Amino acid sequence: MKIKSIDVRVLKVPLDEPYTAGGRAVGANWHVMAEVTTEDGVTGFGYIVALNELFIGTVATATRELAPLLTGMSVAEPEAAWRKLARAGDWIGPGGLLHYAIAPLDIAIWDAFGKSLNLPISRMLGGTRDRLPVYASDGFWYSLSLDELAASARRAAEAGFRAIKLRVGHEPLPEGEVRRVQAASDAAGPGVSIMVDATETWTVTRAIRTGKALQEAGVVWIEDPVSHTDIAGMARVAGSLDVPVATGEHLYGISDFTRLLEARATGVALIDLGRIGGVTPWRHVASMAHGFGVQVGGHVLPEIHVHLLSAVPNARVVEYVPRSAALLQTMPEIADGVLIVPSGGGFGLELDQDAVRRFTV
Ligand SMILES: [Mg+2]
Repeated sequence: MKIKSIDVRVLKVPLDEPYTAGGRAVGANWHVMAEVTTEDGVTGFGYIVALNELFIGTVATATRELAPLLTGMSVAEPEAAWRKLARAGDWIGPGGLLHYAIAPLDIAIWDAFGKSLNLPISRMLGGTRDRLPVYASDGFWYSLSLDELAASARRAAEAGFRAIKLRVGHEPLPEGEVRRVQAASDAAGPGVSIMVDATETWTVTRAIRTGKALQEAGVVWIEDPVSHTDIAGMARVAGSLDVPVATGEHLYGISDFTRLLEARATGVALIDLGRIGGVTPWRHVASMAHGFGVQVGGHVLPEIHVHLLSAVPNARVVEYVPRSAALLQTMPEIADGVLIVPSGGGFGLELDQDAVRRFTV
């Protein structure tokens, strides 16, 4: 299981329907992908996805510079590999660009480890279950009209989702946000839960006021109500609402999550695989959250998160944002509100090599 070679590439996957997120135009999903091949000829792959070209080349360069440090190590020692990379790059880390650069390598190592043993990662990490509730997250932008939002909600319900997440935070009054939730809920029909993501747009007082109106309207989680840098404010919002505050996707390390959890500022810790630096540290944060009685969720990359979340006892739900579907032969299957863990070795995913060639830049 010794690592023989590592390839790193940048891929640009153009979108059929560009959109705006956080005030920025998004026209493509940018990937930094690492492929790790062992001496026995097993190849694992991993990637991070960004919505913006800026720094993608820089991250790929950093990943390429780190990769040779892994030559000769075994894919059966991902923890040791992660520590070696983090230590080597600690001049610009921990966190930031270094974690993004490590993540594709770490994910690829786990994939190759699982493929070598022909075991799914979900089982290697604990095997708590083989499927998880999933929610639709793409296509509910705040820029949509109420009619467009309703159409989007109807499509998601028809596709088998039992939960959807709307972007909010841009209406002048709480009543406006409630109207958006109601339009989506009415269109999706009974049995479809509505979650909201305010993408850090509110002040604390505004978040509490709007959050109360939204929970009254039946919303089941409120994501990123205020800036992630305001942990005390986040804790005030969390303590004022009955529904959980979900947050954490902007955090880069276990110590950031320690502060968040100690402040009782979240009911669902969202762990971003790129920012945390891959599967290895993701597990540490998930375990710590379990100790605090806090659920965890992922952030994008559903095909990877379905494994990680299925493995841990405190998982809540997978966010379905299929940003890499065009690069894969198949995505995990959605059935009746759940995402099913692929049964193959590693992450159980295979690259579509034609697509990989086409999208490589
Ligand atoms: Mg979010």
